[in-house]
Amino acid sequence: MLLHHAARAICQMSARRNPITATIPLDEDGVHHGYLVLPWSRDQSAWGTMRIPICVVKNGSGPTALITGGNHGDEYEGPLAIADWANSIDINYVAGRVIAVPFMNYPAFLAAKRTSPVDGGNMNRLFPGRPDGSVSEKIADYFQNTLLPEADCVLDYHSGGKTLDFVCLAASHVLDDKEQQARCAAARDAFGAPYSLLMREIDSVGMYDDAAESLGKTFVTTELRGGGSNSPQSIAIARRGLRNFLIHCGVVEGELENASSRRLVQPDGSCFHFAEQAGMVELTVNLEAAVKAGELVARIWPINSTGSPALNVHANRDGILIARHFPGLVQEGDCLAVLAVDA
Ligand SMILES: [Zn+2]
Repeated sequence: MLLHHAARAICQMSARRNPITATIPLDEDGVHHGYLVLPWSRDQSAWGTMRIPICVVKNGSGPTALITGGNHGDEYEGPLAIADWANSIDINYVAGRVIAVPFMNYPAFLAAKRTSPVDGGNMNRLFPGRPDGSVSEKIADYFQNTLLPEADCVLDYHSGGKTLDFVCLAASHVLDDKEQQARCAAARDAFGAPYSLLMREIDSVGMYDDAAESLGKTFVTTELRGGGSNSPQSIAIARRGLRNFLIHCGVVEGELENASSRRLVQPDGSCFHFAEQAGMVELTVNLEAAVKAGELVARIWPINSTGSPALNVHANRDGILIARHFPGLVQEGDCLAVLAVDA
């Protein structure tokens, strides 16, 4: 009897519908600019809504690419590349469908924050979301159950945000399904970032990456500099990567713009270096530099007195510095430096 009740409760839960509706058709030929409308009742607006921009371009019955930026709200290469692409579409070159959402965690993007000011939601840690959850959980659930199932290929742009700075890289993951892993790596290489990384995640629970990969999708993510801003170089790589990805996936016709890419891997957790005390950080090697195991990569200076030595941080292994802490101050436990090695 208890089991019966539990089964019915699960059925009722799964039957709950996500409240988000699109103002444009997701499956009709043409160029459509519109919104994902999420009811958002709050002090400032009792019957208010949140309108998340979306662009859907379809021409014929080819494959579907789902492109997202703003998963974290303080990363700009993806939103800029998507905004530019959506503003300059020639549908005659489209041979499938592109669903583009430039500002995935829209409240976070509006606040220029990694996480949502509405509910604290870190979009890349709360998948699969909930149709009856917080604002962030509802957005995640809409991607999980409405948009991801429509896609063949998924590109989710990231950069380091306000607290990290990366070399410009496109990444795929080690997957149990080796055919899928190879498919993702091929799309990653087609993106054509200066570095192509087989990435190790330190915290993959709840990630959009994992949600897309678990559905068998061809999935590529990026890290394209950071610091909460952007550069001409990172934007150019983001734009070229989007065109290349869409061509590689067979969604857009054209020639791949090949760029030389250095393939990297992260063999184990020793690639990551964390601050063991708070203080003022002095990075002693530049991004892209090759370091040897034991080499000094950073010093953390005490900021409560003079006359005290810095804490030296040494490389755990040989490697190339692919990411560094960005702000001048670190807290205990912050990620300081990340290495990768040639594949
Ligand atoms: Zn991110």
